[in-house]
Amino acid sequence: MAANGQGEKRSAEEAAGEEPVLSLLDVLEEDDALEDEACAVLGGSDAEKCSYPEGYVKRQALYACNTCTPKNEEPAGICLACTYKCHEGHHLFELYTKRNFRCDCGNSKFKQMECKLFPEKENVNVGNKYNENFFGLYCTCKRPYPDPEDEIPDEMIQCIVCEDWFHGRHLGANPPEHLEYQEMVCPCCMGRCSFLWAYSNKIGVPVVTQITPAEVDQEVKIEDCPEDTSTVHNGPSIKSEEETAPSTSCDQKPINGDVSLKTEMKSEAKPCKLQEYQEYQKPRENAATYWPSNWRRKLCRCETCMKMYKELEVLFLLDECDTVQAYEHKGKSEEEQESSDPLMTALGTMNRIQQVELISEYNDLKTELKDYLKKFAEEGKVVQTQDIQKFFEDLRSRKRQRVDAMQYYCS
Ligand SMILES: [Zn+2]
Ligand SMILES: [Zn+2]
Ligand SMILES: [Zn+2]
Ligand SMILES: [Zn+2]
Ligand SMILES: [Zn+2]
Ligand SMILES: [Zn+2]
Repeated sequence: MAANGQGEKRSAEEAAGEEPVLSLLDVLEEDDALEDEACAVLGGSDAEKCSYPEGYVKRQALYACNTCTPKNEEPAGICLACTYKCHEGHHLFELYTKRNFRCDCGNSKFKQMECKLFPEKENVNVGNKYNENFFGLYCTCKRPYPDPEDEIPDEMIQCIVCEDWFHGRHLGANPPEHLEYQEMVCPCCMGRCSFLWAYSNKIGVPVVTQITPAEVDQEVKIEDCPEDTSTVHNGPSIKSEEETAPSTSCDQKPINGDVSLKTEMKSEAKPCKLQEYQEYQKPRENAATYWPSNWRRKLCRCETCMKMYKELEVLFLLDECDTVQAYEHKGKSEEEQESSDPLMTALGTMNRIQQVELISEYNDLKTELKDYLKKFAEEGKVVQTQDIQKFFEDLRSRKRQRVDAMQYYCS
């Protein structure tokens, strides 16, 4: 980084240094914890612009408003920016993240209210899928989260296919305590996507079947399964100790990254992996399955299988950028680009005297810059190059004022 090279050129009084000189990088690293937290869920979601013009966003932080669209109304989902600008003070359900959704804020599902950010919406978003999560209810037991009547401490886990959240105890199977898993498919979705049973024996994380007599008769019938998809709040989370670093190519893919075309072409000659795995298939159960990181890569890409994924509407399983981990990673790297790079650019545009002056101000700067960046995080604003430049301009003009004042007193 630019400033480090200037380290040797510090003035003598600084070299004698009462306090250690911090690099800007140190300052930024201190803010990492704060940033990571904000980035994890908000990820690539814009806090200022309604996401509607982007169409069905591949994955975004999503909310439902209990004030505008309560239980007896039609379900609706709203984007992050709309929660701030259009539903301030309303009772919101945090749906965590959800794939392929287009913001409903102010459309025909909302009676009186108009979207302040993007009012020019079509009446309905036909591609959106809804479930009980949009009314704040989760799992096959259709309970709220947190549940005031539930005294059993239980983690909620999100199914990667339907994106509903489930109580660990209502999944029919748990992974053994010592084993890590990255993703879970709920019993309903296993019924619908039964091809996954063939894979589960080979590449799934082994499970311990739950036998809870009281719940045996509560068996999930596939017909009862919700049509589709959704999600929830911060609380529940997919366990992941190991940070899977999704390949960086994820970030450059178009919204509907066309996995199918590419894979179909090169897989012509290969035998079907699914057929091979089916030979080892264990009997299907009414239970969830758990999957390690990178398991999606191992799904067969033969023509027959591709057709099947399409029919089942699970083509996203072939897309590693569809994972929540990839989304969180994307949020983090966008944040890095937006906050660190302009800073480095700004530093690079300064002459040596300015840089040396800057270095001599490091200790004050540390606090000031941190507060400055924190304000952006709090307001959910993205730091722009101009913002960083403005920070340094203000800093320099204040410094000049101080110098002028000094001269006045000294003369
Ligand atoms: Zn919106
Ligand atoms: Zn509202
Ligand atoms: Zn809105
Ligand atoms: Zn439940
Ligand atoms: Zn599911
Ligand atoms: Zn196949």
